[in-house]
Amino acid sequence: VFLCILVIFFIAAVWLSLTMSKKAMIPIQRSYRQQQQFLADASHELRTPLSIMNTSLDVIELENGKDFTSYTKEVIVDMKEEVGRMSRMVHHLLLLARSDSGSVEFEIVAFDLVPRMRQWVQAFEAIANQKEIVLNAHLPRELSIKGDIERMKQLVYILLDNAIKYTPKHGNVNVIVDQQSKQWSLAIQDTGVGIPIEDRRRIFDRFYRVEKHRSRDEGSAGLGLSIAKWIVEAHHGSIEVESVVNQGSTFTVKFTYLE
Ligand code: ADP
Repeated sequence: VFLCILVIFFIAAVWLSLTMSKKAMIPIQRSYRQQQQFLADASHELRTPLSIMNTSLDVIELENGKDFTSYTKEVIVDMKEEVGRMSRMVHHLLLLARSDSGSVEFEIVAFDLVPRMRQWVQAFEAIANQKEIVLNAHLPRELSIKGDIERMKQLVYILLDNAIKYTPKHGNVNVIVDQQSKQWSLAIQDTGVGIPIEDRRRIFDRFYRVEKHRSRDEGSAGLGLSIAKWIVEAHHGSIEVESVVNQGSTFTVKFTYLE
């Protein structure tokens, strides 16, 4: 009898814990979905006012720019930079919210990476020049790959933007594309501030920034590398970083050729 009571008690306990956890799961899942939807909606709604602000600043500058004092000009430049920063952040948030809900479609096409890469690197020449950073690209003659061109561009932009952002004046940034028989790789090397070993594992996490004050001064939110990782993984690749503090970092992305 005692054994029977014990078995019934045990079954009842298991049944109770299973139904309780099931019940607890539903609100958690629902609240997670609601949170995702909220993030996607909020980011989407924020895009319109930001683009209106951007256009309005252009109009103000165009119509009255010549009458501005140097102080007003500075204020306008700062405002445009801040609006740009917020737009990028909102764009990244929206993308992450969409990636979570699985609603981002990748358009995989075959293309030659080399002319594209030349173009993408060239887009950073002005900003590199401003910091007197030498920007070089070492590319093969051609490299036929399969991938989503816009997302690949975004990946390169995130890595190059970081390399230049975290490299002090007069540094070097190298972009190296290498092809082997089974895989190809992209390495972005810089002679920047480097990443301490304890942070290296976490820099791909959302909102993670090394030395928060340093990154905020550079206008960052800690979302770039999590998007980079998501793009790489969606192309079945891998991303890793090697770094020496105060000497520089190298981000390497490796891909096998997609069928
Ligand atoms: P952020 O928008 O802050 O640059 P990321 O996700 O792109 O966000 O990067 C996360 C953190 O990793 C950055 O805040 C920065 O501290 C560090 N980091 C990224 N790239 C580099 C780099 N090339 N050199 C030094 N630190 C870097």
